[in-house]
Amino acid sequence: MLLTLANVEVAYGAVTALRGVSLEVAEGEIVTLLGANGAGKTTTLRTVSGLLRPRAGQTWLDGRPLSSIPAHELVGRGVSHVPEGRRIFPSMSVRENLLMGAYHDRRHVRTDLGRVLALFPRLAERIAQPGGTLSGGEQQMLAIGRALMSRPRLMLLDEPSMGLAPMIVQTIFEVIAEINREGVAVLLVEQNAASALRIAGRGYVLETGEVVLAGTAASLLADDRVRQAYLGED
Ligand code: ATP
Repeated sequence: MLLTLANVEVAYGAVTALRGVSLEVAEGEIVTLLGANGAGKTTTLRTVSGLLRPRAGQTWLDGRPLSSIPAHELVGRGVSHVPEGRRIFPSMSVRENLLMGAYHDRRHVRTDLGRVLALFPRLAERIAQPGGTLSGGEQQMLAIGRALMSRPRLMLLDEPSMGLAPMIVQTIFEVIAEINREGVAVLLVEQNAASALRIAGRGYVLETGEVVLAGTAASLLADDRVRQAYLGED
């Protein structure tokens, strides 16, 4: 297993955000994390990327305890986090933003930049433009592109479709599927449950810090509780 969380508890001071979360991501799969606001989705991603330490439970990356890996070394071990709200560098050009994500051996930078620009032709057209002048969708592409520059094996994506126009949302999901086809595992947090489940192999539903449902994407898409709560059906 690439990533394993077992009975993970995370708290912000007196506020318990995760109450015994267990989940797994295998090499090369897309796993989506669904849940209402405040369910603990972002907290789960922040725990995996080492920004938060569990109060209890275990986390493993490639069978090695995550807690033994300093947060700044996780990128080198293949974990790349695209946080909610994108956080690109607005005054730096698209190219400079992408290069900020390059982590590995400098010799690969040219190849990696070429791959990212092939994936996002829109970024190629805007390569010299300041990041802050891009549209919301283009900034999301830039944030994902920057994360790809580190050659991740596991990408953590926090609400990549948030606040974007429907056509761009479609593009973002297609690109996530394409990145996955190239062998990158994805842990995807989304409010857009239907689109997320369509590209995912499996999913988990979080409610108030607990996994209340887990299964294949197909079984979750067919589940009445998921349909009512997350797919807007009666
Ligand atoms: P959303 O969809 O709204 O982003 P989420 O599922 O990602 O929600 P989290 O952001 O993980 O939820 O939050 C889980 C719980 O932890 C919430 O009750 C939230 O209020 C609380 N929480 C999150 N960050 C902090 C913080 N820095 N300090 C205190 N409590 C926090």
